[in-house]
Amino acid sequence: MKWSLVVPCYNEEANVRAFFTACREAIGDRMSYEVVFVNDGSRDNTWNELKALHEEYPEHIKLINFSRNFGKEAGMYAGLQRAEGDYVTVIDADMQQRPEIALQMVDFLEVNRDIDCVAAYQDARRENKFIAACKKLFYKFIDFACEISFKAGASDFRTMRREMVKAVLAMSEYHRFSKGIFSWVGFNTHYVPYTAEQRQAGKTSWSFKKLCKYAFEGVISFTTFPLRIATIVGALMSLGSLLYMLVVVVQKLAFGIDLPGYATIVVLILLIGGLQMIMLGIIGEYIARIYIQGKHRPVYIAKEYVARKTEEKE
Ligand code: UDP
Ligand code: MG
Repeated sequence: MKWSLVVPCYNEEANVRAFFTACREAIGDRMSYEVVFVNDGSRDNTWNELKALHEEYPEHIKLINFSRNFGKEAGMYAGLQRAEGDYVTVIDADMQQRPEIALQMVDFLEVNRDIDCVAAYQDARRENKFIAACKKLFYKFIDFACEISFKAGASDFRTMRREMVKAVLAMSEYHRFSKGIFSWVGFNTHYVPYTAEQRQAGKTSWSFKKLCKYAFEGVISFTTFPLRIATIVGALMSLGSLLYMLVVVVQKLAFGIDLPGYATIVVLILLIGGLQMIMLGIIGEYIARIYIQGKHRPVYIAKEYVARKTEEKE
């Protein structure tokens, strides 16, 4: 098997067929390929659509059906586990990412033996200015706080060689943040710009709240920098209070000024109390992840797996 496409699907009933057709048309009989569809607990008719597709093209399609919605990260992980190709592409089902571009990625890897991964990044974004600005800020922060570097605008849309897929699968952590994992495993990645198409049908499952949660997950998963903030803020505050103490002592001894300090005290208590609570919260987030990871829960639960019909068995 030369090429696998891993496609996580959540409520994509109107897209999966069009997506597969686009793949078929793009690839033709240029190479052997399979499409691994992961139904991530869709609430619509996606699973039946996928089964119908499998009936029609059993030699090209594998299906994984999750017991509930586990999120795109889990979907990608499950799909990568089942993918058999020498080249593996992670791609969305909604046609925002074109299969033809994925094919170009494979062609690129065929020619450039020293490159292990071709990843797409969005140079021009067709989205809300505010969200785009938040994303930019997120990449700035994470680049500053993490030892690994993130390419701004890089998506999960990428094609990897098998060696890199093995490395990604070796990271079996529960809280998955693939953008970080892809960077962390290393390998030579070549970035190509692309502009996401409009979603063919259905709507994006990313709300602003979900995006914030995802960004937070990314930071917590790949750096312990937020914990260090406590040390830095604590040191700065201690220094500040020492200086202020000196000022007060000099004012009292040299000039005999009494300092009415009720408001100052209240403000300071609230400020310091607030900062302490924030830091406790951050420590809590890390502990919560240790707790969940400690339970060794699986990343996903698949209730069904429909294998590809290999030509030999027919
Ligand atoms: N997706 C998924 N599980 C989820 C949310 C999304 O498998 O819980 C899939 C979705 O079906 C699509 C891909 O992840 O194939 C990207 O999702 P979406 O198009 O909603 O994100 P966007 O393109 O807006 O970033
Ligand atoms: Mg999309």
